[in-house]
Parts: sequence; C-alpha cells; structure tokens
Amino acid sequence: MATLRHQIATTTLTLTKFRELMHRMQENRPNDDLEIIRKAYEYSQKYHEGQTRASGEPYLIHPLEVALVLAEMKMDPVAVAAGLLHDSVEDTSVTVSDIRREFGEQVAHIVEGVTKISKIDFATREEQQAENLRKMMLAMVDDIRVVLIKLADRLHNMRTLEHLPPERQQKIAKETLEIYGPIAHRLGMGKIRGELEDLGFRYLDPIAHQQLYEAVEARRKKGEAFLAKVDQVLRDKLKEAGIMARVESRIKRVYSIHKKLVRQHIGIDQVYDLCAMRVITRSVQDCYAVLGIIHNLWRPVPGRIKDFIAMPRPNFYQSLHTSVITEEGTPFEIQIRTEEMHKMAEEGIAAHWKYKDGPVSAQDEQRLAWLRQVVEWQQDVSDPTEFLSTLKIDLYPEEVYIFTPKGKVVVLPRDSTPIDFAYTIHSEVGHSCTGAKVNGRMVPLRHKLHSGDIVEIITQPGHKPSRDWLSVVKSSRARNKIKHWLNIHQRERAIEIGRKLIEKEARKYRVSLKDIKDEDFQKVSSDYGLGRADDLMAGIGYGKYSARQVLGRLAPSANQPMVEPGAEAEGLTSAVRRVFGGDTNAIRVKGQGDLLVYRARCCNPIRGESIVGYVTRGKGVAVHSLNCSNVVNLMYEPERRIDVEWARDDGTPSSYPVKLTVFCDDRFGMLKQLTSVISDTKTNIRNIEAKTGNGQAHIDVVIDIADLKHLEQLIVGVRKIPGVHDVQRLQKIN
Ligand code: MN
Repeated sequence: MATLRHQIATTTLTLTKFRELMHRMQENRPNDDLEIIRKAYEYSQKYHEGQTRASGEPYLIHPLEVALVLAEMKMDPVAVAAGLLHDSVEDTSVTVSDIRREFGEQVAHIVEGVTKISKIDFATREEQQAENLRKMMLAMVDDIRVVLIKLADRLHNMRTLEHLPPERQQKIAKETLEIYGPIAHRLGMGKIRGELEDLGFRYLDPIAHQQLYEAVEARRKKGEAFLAKVDQVLRDKLKEAGIMARVESRIKRVYSIHKKLVRQHIGIDQVYDLCAMRVITRSVQDCYAVLGIIHNLWRPVPGRIKDFIAMPRPNFYQSLHTSVITEEGTPFEIQIRTEEMHKMAEEGIAAHWKYKDGPVSAQDEQRLAWLRQVVEWQQDVSDPTEFLSTLKIDLYPEEVYIFTPKGKVVVLPRDSTPIDFAYTIHSEVGHSCTGAKVNGRMVPLRHKLHSGDIVEIITQPGHKPSRDWLSVVKSSRARNKIKHWLNIHQRERAIEIGRKLIEKEARKYRVSLKDIKDEDFQKVSSDYGLGRADDLMAGIGYGKYSARQVLGRLAPSANQPMVEPGAEAEGLTSAVRRVFGGDTNAIRVKGQGDLLVYRARCCNPIRGESIVGYVTRGKGVAVHSLNCSNVVNLMYEPERRIDVEWARDDGTPSSYPVKLTVFCDDRFGMLKQLTSVISDTKTNIRNIEAKTGNGQAHIDVVIDIADLKHLEQLIVGVRKIPGVHDVQRLQKIN
C-alpha cells in the first residue's frame, strides 16, 4: 500500500510539473507542435523510473525542471525535448542510437553533446586552464542548444545543491563560478549568470557569503527607500520631457558586490553602485536624451560615463552607464538601454529563439545581425528561420583545444597537427616524434586535430625533423623550432661540403690549404661580410659563393691551373655533380657566375617557362616553375629566393622530358594518330602508356621537349585530334 501511495504521489508531482511545462510552452510558442515534448516526457519517465535524487525527490523532477528553464528561455520544442532526455544516456540504459530512432537526428545530436560535456572533468586550479576549458567547451559543441541545456542543467543542480555532501558542494560550486558563470556571461545571458554566480558563491565560501548577504540586507531598506525617491523624481522628469520609458531599480547582486570588494579592496559603503537604476527606452535616441536629463538632475561622477551603445562589449552587451551623486551626496549608478538591448543583456543568445515564428521581417534580420558576427556560417543559409533551427556556433574559429593524456588542455591554431602538439610539450618531443595516437587510434603526423581530442605522441630517439613538416605545421612555435633545428644541422653539412669543394679546387691549382694562414681565411670571410671562416665554408656549401672565386682570394698567386683548362673544368663539374647531382647547363643565376643549379624534380621547369631559384641547404640552387605549388612553402624564407634565368640559347640542342596525359575517346586508330601528330613536330617519344574504360582513355606520354614554345605547339596539335577532350601536363615525371 505504501509503495502504491508513494507511486501515486510521485506521479502527481511529476505530472503537475509536466503540465506547467506544457503550459509555459503553449504560452511562449503558441504555433509549435509540442508532441515531441510529450513523447520525451513519457520516454524519460519510463527510463528514470524508480531513480531518486539526493533530495529524495523522484529523479524525473530534474529533467522536468531543466526543461522548464529552457521553456522560460523560450527555446524550441527540440531543445526542450532534448532537455527532458539530457541525462538518459548518462544515467540509464538508453543509447544515443535509441534516441535517434525515437526522436530523430537533432535531438540525438544534442543529447550526445550534453553527455560528452558531462564527462569532462573541469576541476582545475589554474586560472589559465579554466579559461581554456571554457573556450574548449564552446568550441567542442556545434549546436548552441547543447550549451544552453548544460546551463539549465547546472542551474537546477545549483538550486538543489543543499542536498549534496559538503565536498561535492564545493567542487560543483567552484566549477560553476569558473566555467558556467563565465560561459553564460560570454553568451550574454545576464539573468542565468547572476543566479549561477550567487549560488556558486554561497556554497564555495558560505561564511563570506553570509557576512556580505547580511551587510547588504542591513542596507536594503534604506537603499530601497532611497531608490523609490529618486525613481519618482526621474519618472516625473521623463514624463515632462515626453519620453516613454520604464524605470527599474534594484540592489546589486551579492556576487558582483563581492567581486568588486575583492578587486578594489574597499568596504561595502564605498561601493558606488550598490543601488542601481535602469531606464529602458524605446529608441537609441531616447537613451541619449535620458542621459542628458539625468545629468541635469544630478551631478555626474567624472570618468564614470560609459557608452557601450557605441562600443558594445565583446559579448554584445549594449547600454549607457553613468554614476551620479544626489544633493545629499549619495552616489548611485544608472544604466540606460532600449528594450531590445535589455532583452539581449538578460537572455543573450537565447533571446533569438522567439524570432523563429511568424513572418521574417527586415527588422528581424537586423536583430540577428549581431549573432551572425559570433556565429560562423557552416552552410549558406538564406532563411533565418532555418538558420536558427540549425544554429551552429563557432565562437573561437581560430583555435582548437587538445588534451594531453593527463588531461591538461593545450591551445593550438585550427588545423594543427600532432607535430604542433608535440612541440608544445618539449622541443625534443617535437624533433623525435614519429607518430601519434588520437583518442587511442594511430594517425599520420599530418592528421588535423579537433577540439576535445586526446593526443599521445610517439617518439623514437634519434629521429630527426623533416623539412616537409614546415608545410604541415600551423603553430609558429613548431615552425620556429623546426627551422632552428634545420638551420643548425644543415649548416654543419654545408660547412663540410664547402670544405670539400675548396679542397678539390685547391688540389687543382696545386695550392696547399695548410699554407694559408688563419688570418687570411678570416680576412676573406670579412670581405664577404661574414664573421668566421666557417660561415664562408657554409656559404660555399649552400652554393652562395663559388669555391673557385674564394680560392682566388685566398691564394691570389694560384691563377693558373696546373692541368689543361678543359679537363680541369670538367673535373670541377663532375666533383660538383657527384656532391650535388643535377644539371648546370641551361640555367643561370642572375648576377652570379658558376653557382650550382638544378631543376627541381617536383615541377621540372622547361626552357621558356617563368622560373624562380631557391638556395637550398647544401644542394645548390633549386629552380622551380613559378607556379609550382612548392614555391609557396619555400617562400617561408624569402631571403633564400634568388633570381634565375634561362641561359642564352647557344645552339647546343637541349631537351627536357615532359609527361602529358591525354584524355580522349577510346576509338580505333587514336593511338596511331596521336603518335603521328607528335612525331610530325619532330618530337622524340620516350614512353607511352594507355588506360581505357567505359569508352574513354587516358594516355600518358613522356616526350623530349626543347622549350615552352615547342610544348605549346605540340599541345595545340594534339587537341585538334578528333575525340581528344583534354591534354594536361604532369609536373612530376615519375
Ligand atoms: Mn542533469
């Protein structure tokens, strides 16, 4: 009997709450279909059956209260239904797929988001970490309703916190003040933020709270009488001036007084704005008119006028603030704003749901304008109704928030990779990283990280950074560390190569390097504007200076080579080839003599194309086609760009292999016609391969090309063949 009576009592209690919820929804959103809410209520009733809260109440009361907070925010039925289901995945046997099946993708997605956030442990001491966690939470969710449900959830938990043991109270209160209050603030939701903070303060520091509360209460009566008096004076003046406006007066919230006392090291009687008035007008012009009237009535405190209408706060808060002093010398603060600014200050981002119904006017469009500034458009939505229902947030589009395996948050630029992450741990971890696990799964080093990822770096002692990393990393820290490493290590190699080159040159001229004094090395280095002999060797190794010229300065007597010129010149070239590889014939570095040049293999530029040179570390000058995609990356170091040009054609025939892909119909005789067009232009074919399928063919052909003009003529000829759709040049040959 007792059980039955208990069940009836429980059902009555929850049913009453549910009716209140439906009533509020009908009031706020008369045109909406509320069936999904009824269904969600019945569903969560079934799954939370028998569960109770610490207060002894049936558990179902909690989701109902959360839904009620959401209904008061005028949220849509999807959000309210998700609010009713928000704890079902966490606390019952229900899965996200169950919810998706019963309630559709949107509700499931939101519930999943809320569950995900619930699993983050926000307990932290460091201020910086708290800021990162707040940002991370906002960056992690792609639907703002997830955050609003989490705030409503926290609000109800705070309202019923008295039933939990003191340690839990402390932890939850701290988290509320560090994470949820600021998030509500960030979203402009002043009302929820105020309540969250006062409750948080009450449980985190009960003694300080009690003292301040009593101090405020002791002054309340006097304050309220004072406010009533000035309130009347102001109302009369507004009426006289013909301005329609609401006047509200209030005593400031406990937590905001507390913060002020702590921040400014003052006592409660020195708080200017313990008593505050608010004037809510019909237009922006009226706001400024009211400010004038107020300053006529009472003397303004200099330096206390703030125009947040012209200069909104980062959370889009708008108001005029001023502090004035009455004839008796009592200071108080007045805020002036329009009805719309007021709604925005109280409800913030949630203020927008109410605009979902009814015709969308140009005015509604304007109201949404500020929101669009915070929200990155995920897709091109032309209809604001649709925009609101699929509202995505991206409040910090430039950053991602990543966890270390120990739960520390690392902030990185968007699209960062495990390499960026590794360098934030330690330079050595960065240098020696070979792979990474993201959320327990192996990923390649160029994998893009997402907010909330847990990243573990795999290192291998002795592993070295690669130049390719420079085109992958996004953080300047990683980029600088990699560059620094490459500079040091490749410099060593360049010095070694430089030394070998000059030794080779010296042998040819029968100069003994041992006979050249250190001072002479030093002097020649200074001639080149360098500090040390090693810099000079490095310069030779990098291909900046010619070994022969340097030797000429070191040993001016060594003008005559000891062997016949042809053989010796070839000797140098072959030495260079052996060291560097590549061809030096057809390209000249502007203003320089015999620098080592080679055509970059990534784009294989041919004579006549626009080219650019790049001084490599130890391999001479790489010549790229100006439109090679690598050029962009190489220009990270613009000082190493060098002008190059095609050497004047000296009549010696030169040719470059070029690979073309011909897209054409797969028809009889196509290949024959293609080869005859090519050989008609006196072009040598090195290789030809065809692939066919569905009546179409790609033919890859490698040909010897003299210059750009030759190539262009040939392509024009191939395009004219009937059945050829396109001809493309492949920059890479193999
Ligand atoms: Mn909950």
